[in-house]
Amino acid sequence: MTNTTKKTFGPNTLAVRAGQVRSQEGEHSELIFPTSSYVFASAAEAAARFSGDSPGNIYSRFTNPTVRTFEQRLAALEQGERCIGTSSGMSAILCTLLGLLKAGDHIVSSRSIFGSTVNLLSNILPRYGITTTFVDSTDYQDWERAITSDTKLFFLETPSNPLTEIVDIQKVADIAHNSNLLLIVDNCFCTPSLQLPLKLGADIVIHSATKYLDGQGRCVGGAIVGSDSLLGEDIYTFLRTGGASMSPFNAWIFLKGLETLSIRMQAHCQNAQQIAEWLNSQKFVETVYYPGLKSHPQHELATQQQSGFGGIVSFEVKGGKEQAWKFIDSIKLFSITANLGDTKSTITHPGSTTHHKLSDEQRLEVGINPGLIRLSVGLEDVSDLINDLEQAS
Ligand SMILES: *Cc1c(COP(=O)(O)O)cnc(C)c1O
Repeated sequence: MTNTTKKTFGPNTLAVRAGQVRSQEGEHSELIFPTSSYVFASAAEAAARFSGDSPGNIYSRFTNPTVRTFEQRLAALEQGERCIGTSSGMSAILCTLLGLLKAGDHIVSSRSIFGSTVNLLSNILPRYGITTTFVDSTDYQDWERAITSDTKLFFLETPSNPLTEIVDIQKVADIAHNSNLLLIVDNCFCTPSLQLPLKLGADIVIHSATKYLDGQGRCVGGAIVGSDSLLGEDIYTFLRTGGASMSPFNAWIFLKGLETLSIRMQAHCQNAQQIAEWLNSQKFVETVYYPGLKSHPQHELATQQQSGFGGIVSFEVKGGKEQAWKFIDSIKLFSITANLGDTKSTITHPGSTTHHKLSDEQRLEVGINPGLIRLSVGLEDVSDLINDLEQAS
């Protein structure tokens, strides 16, 4: 039996080895445990497990060894005490918020966040008495001004989807902590390989494992990372009762994905940088949004806060929605799909897909103009990708 989660190891070692527990068979690769429940040696042991007097597995909605390996590995990479795997990125957000909050509580959130998160915060949670004020995430006074006596937490994504806006995590964490609030950061775009929000003061990190953690577009899943005390009580209790648990099959895909995460992220960053620079020199392009460009408004901050600029490049074509759709329909190699973080490059029109639920007003407020296109730059040869963009223009 080996369990390699020691803090002294570097991130690449942890990505490959953390959380593995070998069985008596001596298998080299991690096991998948497709079992819904676990057997007890006696009626008394069953009772002790259920009462919590004896630790151990009961049922896979609560714990599963494959899911645990994934959780320990991601916790080690994010430098958090604990991780909880969930059935999707959205359920990670839902379980965190419903685990921590009650009717009457208030959230302050960046308005530049994933479309479904906007929908959850602005249309669904208010039905349960939890309300949200959206702020311009890079206007730090706006965060402070939005706090009320009912505010319990801040929520943000950086870089944001789809405009790659960078928020100063440390600064927002300080504002939150001055008012005894928690800061939750969705680290989907950077992954722990490029950014460590907990080290910068965030209290909880959210992941859509569906994206770069899987890395090959196969499974839907999510994760919550933070301290034992924050996650162990309210959030975990909500999850195991609410039932948004991660499947062991998906956990296995994600934990194998973590093994190659850092080399994949480096390659995504390299290809994305070249594409962003190429787009920036094209006449059909109005604006390019990529933190690795010197012209990006938070380029300096991105350089300090992240160890790479990520694989997402957004750009606005001249001619609005008609030209954007024409461009997308002329693309041959990029896949027209809304997923991101895949080895395969993808192209999407956020205004009519990922962010279609926002009102026209909300979209314009966050800068999702009709001509905006989002690329998730994959691992193909960058020359093939640029040729494809060129023939579509
Ligand atoms: C995709 C995504 C989510 C939601 O994750 P799912 O796995 O699709 O539920 C949340 N946040 C960001 C930034 C995302 O890109």
